[in-house]
Amino acid sequence: MTILTPNSPTAELQRADAAHHMHPFTHGQGLNDRGARVITRAEGCWLNDSEGNRILDAMAGLWCVNIGYGRRELAQAAARQMEELPYYNTFFQTTHVPAINLAARIAELAPGDLNHVFFASSGSEANDTNLRLVRTYWAEKGQPERQWVISRWNAYHGSSVGSGSLGGMKGMHTQGGMPIPGIAHIDQPDWWSEGGDMTPEDFGRARAKQLEDKILELGPENVAAFIAEPVQGAGGVIVAPDTYWPEVQKIVDKYGILLIADEVICGFGRTGRWFGSETVGIRPDIMTIAKGLSSGYQPIGGSVLSDEVASVISGTEFNHGYTYSGHPVACAVALENLRILDEEGVVDRVASDTGPYLKERFESLTDHPLVGEAKIVGMMGSLALTPDKASRAAFASEAGTVGYITRERCFANNLIMRHVGDRMIISPPLVISREEIDVLIERAWQSLDEAHEELKAQGLM
Ligand code: PMP
Repeated sequence: MTILTPNSPTAELQRADAAHHMHPFTHGQGLNDRGARVITRAEGCWLNDSEGNRILDAMAGLWCVNIGYGRRELAQAAARQMEELPYYNTFFQTTHVPAINLAARIAELAPGDLNHVFFASSGSEANDTNLRLVRTYWAEKGQPERQWVISRWNAYHGSSVGSGSLGGMKGMHTQGGMPIPGIAHIDQPDWWSEGGDMTPEDFGRARAKQLEDKILELGPENVAAFIAEPVQGAGGVIVAPDTYWPEVQKIVDKYGILLIADEVICGFGRTGRWFGSETVGIRPDIMTIAKGLSSGYQPIGGSVLSDEVASVISGTEFNHGYTYSGHPVACAVALENLRILDEEGVVDRVASDTGPYLKERFESLTDHPLVGEAKIVGMMGSLALTPDKASRAAFASEAGTVGYITRERCFANNLIMRHVGDRMIISPPLVISREEIDVLIERAWQSLDEAHEELKAQGLM
């Protein structure tokens, strides 16, 4: 077998990829016929592909490269740790220095009394942990009937059987026997698409009320937890109306139900605070973390528990864990990532400088005829595309058709934006500069223009 390199011809790389590599969330045959784009190198906010293109990555990979690409300090932290102690586990009454330091640093950064970390290697694994954690918590408290976990339609909590069931992606539920029993879903706070004639404020309260209705339907004595992303990411960057989260907090408090904030995207600066829970003003009992924890340089995630939840769980043997829970190399890299985010003031800059600048420029896209709404929190934003702004109408074509066309125009213009249905979303590295924000907006406008022309030519609007 020939070992290929980033300098190998694109066609050869694509042929080998199609022959042996299966891609996540992909129609395999469709991709194989077309050939995957091969990314070879990256620096800052910029990717290079095997064809020599230089692409602005307005998605930070999969919402994770908060610190930007190419930070040698992280590579060096990994190399140092691999030489010193490449692997050891934290089972069987054992620990190691990287896990000790990282857990302590996360406890320092996390709000309130979220002071205890159970490590995993991904967001999915961490949410699987959470499902078992909350049920074990109630069993230990003498209320084993508290089994139900309430989530939201169109939420994303991962792709394993447990986390995919917690998620509310109907397209995922149709494959492979999800959701598993004991998980209930309520509607999402997406005013643009689902708010009808209500004001955003009334709609936010109505969607929060669904949580109370669901708790009463299941019986409060049977409900363990409510899980939600402070700002829904993969669902299309859905920002709840201001009235939503205060109501949700009141309801979980009223019925004594645990609140799990899935911070996999929102955590580590994405919303302009260290955690999205701070931005939306909630007090979770457990937070799910991953992605920005290591800026994607190493696979690592975890569950951050409050003093109370941790003390109950610590009262029993929790029969759960992964070979790579608290992997020393991943922990060392994450610790270095957090040091840089902090010492270079990256999160503060998002809050006070580049975040507000991006917001102003991103919202100017609503002047484009295709864009009905621009919503942005910190560095995660979404454009709702529409044929009629006043009525917030959806396109007559199958949902996602217009988004896909627009995304293809973005790719052609060397801009990575993602589409979720007919929304266009961004989540750039937090280190993006004002000049790069200008390039992002110029390319987005150009791509929207080209998509608009294509839609008219195809009779889609
Ligand atoms: N939760 C949220 C909010 C996410 O966005 C994701 C990934 N996009 C996950 C969980 C799952 O994380 P992973 O892909 O690392 O398993």
